[in-house]
Amino acid sequence: MLFGAIEAGGTKFVCAIGDQEFNVIEKISIPTTTPSETVRDVFTFFDRFGEELKSIGIGSFGPIDVDQQSKTYGYITNTPKLAWQYFDFVGSVKKRYNIPVAWTTDVNASALGEAQLGVGKNKKTVAYFTIGTGIGGGVIQDKVIIEGITHPEMGHLLVRRHPDDKYEGNCPFHKDCLEGMACGPAIEQRLGLKGQEVASNDPFWEIEAYYIAQMIYNVTINFAPSVVALGGGVMKKDGMLKKVRNTFSKLLNDYRPIPDIEEYIVLPKLNDNAAIIGCFSLAEELITK
Ligand code: ZN
Repeated sequence: MLFGAIEAGGTKFVCAIGDQEFNVIEKISIPTTTPSETVRDVFTFFDRFGEELKSIGIGSFGPIDVDQQSKTYGYITNTPKLAWQYFDFVGSVKKRYNIPVAWTTDVNASALGEAQLGVGKNKKTVAYFTIGTGIGGGVIQDKVIIEGITHPEMGHLLVRRHPDDKYEGNCPFHKDCLEGMACGPAIEQRLGLKGQEVASNDPFWEIEAYYIAQMIYNVTINFAPSVVALGGGVMKKDGMLKKVRNTFSKLLNDYRPIPDIEEYIVLPKLNDNAAIIGCFSLAEELITK
């Protein structure tokens, strides 16, 4: 019995085949161009596995429609990537293979992967964030993705401005929401340099850590997670994790108990495979539950 995974990102699609233990048997990467081109190559990959392929899990860039009652369930909705606007992703895959297809955001898929086999293994509630070109977050409770009429958009949490930060924010909807203040392009617009080029001892990183720490504060208060994993390019900056932990501890001010800070705020464990494993998990669930 084989499961398929599609991690559909804005620049590339990663497709994989896995077994019931979520081992990656085969994996390929396809550039994200137009639905007709990209999806054609996705199908070429999965076609080879024939009847053995029992179900497919998709973690997609968004926004996407996850409301099963909706007419556009399974669609990518009003994405700035025009060719993909209102693309019926789930419908196209089902039409091709006639097998069950699971569907969530790329960040939820990564969160679920980490909950299954990464930092959240044997933990009840896992919060996962990625801080890079955008900011996204997902929460998994008892291996179930928390969603409602739509998927959470924790990148757009409202944050308190750092007193030394005069930047106006770049979110087209909210200006100075979390993503508007702390995503990669906001860093670049503020400093005139890409995050990777800003020295790790630049005082700006204290400001960045302040916004990320508020995000963790909010998720801590809202969901009481067992662990918070932070992925994405910004967290690769030297010293960032430590700054975030310190600032978070000050903000929380011992208001509620949390695990040891070094076990509570962590980097993800599965790196490039988190979303793929999350997709396998969703695909498996369709067959076994
Ligand atoms: Zn926003």
